[in-house]
Amino acid sequence: ELVKNEDLEVLADLGAGNGGTVTKVWNKKRNCIMARKLILVDAKPAIKKQILRELQIMNDCASPYIVGYYGCFPIDVHVGIVMEYMDAGSLDYIYRHNGPVSIEITGKVAEAVLRGLMYLYDVHRIIHRDIKPSNILANTAGEIKICDFGVSGELINSIANTFVGTSTYMSPERIQGAAYTIKSDVWSLGISLIELALGRFPFAEPPDSSSEADASDSEAQATFDANATLPLAAQRAALDLGGNSNGNGNNSPPHERRRSRGVSLAGGGSTMSILDLLQHIVNEPAPKLYSPRKDFPQEAVDFVEDCLSKDPATRKSPQELLKSSWIVDSKVTKADLEKWTKSTVEE
Ligand code: ADP
Ligand code: MG
Repeated sequence: ELVKNEDLEVLADLGAGNGGTVTKVWNKKRNCIMARKLILVDAKPAIKKQILRELQIMNDCASPYIVGYYGCFPIDVHVGIVMEYMDAGSLDYIYRHNGPVSIEITGKVAEAVLRGLMYLYDVHRIIHRDIKPSNILANTAGEIKICDFGVSGELINSIANTFVGTSTYMSPERIQGAAYTIKSDVWSLGISLIELALGRFPFAEPPDSSSEADASDSEAQATFDANATLPLAAQRAALDLGGNSNGNGNNSPPHERRRSRGVSLAGGGSTMSILDLLQHIVNEPAPKLYSPRKDFPQEAVDFVEDCLSKDPATRKSPQELLKSSWIVDSKVTKADLEKWTKSTVEE
């Protein structure tokens, strides 16, 4: 029996992002807490029906690394999706409130995301398409799970049409218009891992850049003019020019070809022009797991480098990455994860 909107009482706001608002809700019928996401879908009823039909795949998604799904429904101009409430919140919330995530815990985040990605791809042939810290959630049972994957082509379309499609976690080949593969998700994971370990978005200037930007750092970390933001229309035009030359082939599904190349300011705290940033991702060397103030283990540095190979052909697959020594030799237990998530909610 799937959840209906009438069963739900709103408890609190959990956050809003690109195309959705999420609230903590009480399910009166089942006597438990859940999370409800409302996505604005400005589409004809037939399209909405199609979206709801496509979302049914989530009924069959059962993995310890995927946020549980309880049902979906149309509600005025929205599509509602009810899912498992993750009481420690998203990884971006956690690091913003508690500072950088330790490299040991970051390794367990990497493993959970890779196992979630492999489950989605191997069992359902789904590519996530939106890996970023806000789509990686944790709970005080010590579980780490991913959410917001692209199950519905029509939903991806509807959001892209009303909203914006490009995010700063996008791989260089995606920015240039190539079709999504599971390797694009691996790139986004690499960027997310640096963000968690440094406690800031890797492309943005550190808040105290004078002390952090030493000589060895300055080359990889280009600085951007905080006020150099182009009007959205200009950004779109520029990105379309860049993307079409390398456009999707005829074999890509309709939602791939129609997907708009708008932009969004993902990666909180980043104030540079989004176009500069996307060009930077395409043209400059990939960021590295590096901080002048921290000594990250070489296995972690190598792992992130393997995620951030600019050429998707040489970038490692989730299977290969799961065999990395950083993952295999991790000493972090489920109890450690439980302790860690509990410490983040107690503060
Ligand atoms: P985004 O992922 O771009 O931040 P969303 O609308 O998907 O935007 O989510 C908004 C916020 O709601 C997330 O950043 C996260 O902190 C929170 N959130 C989403 N889903 C859940 C959930 N199932 N349990 C707890 N918090 C959630
Ligand atoms: Mg999300």
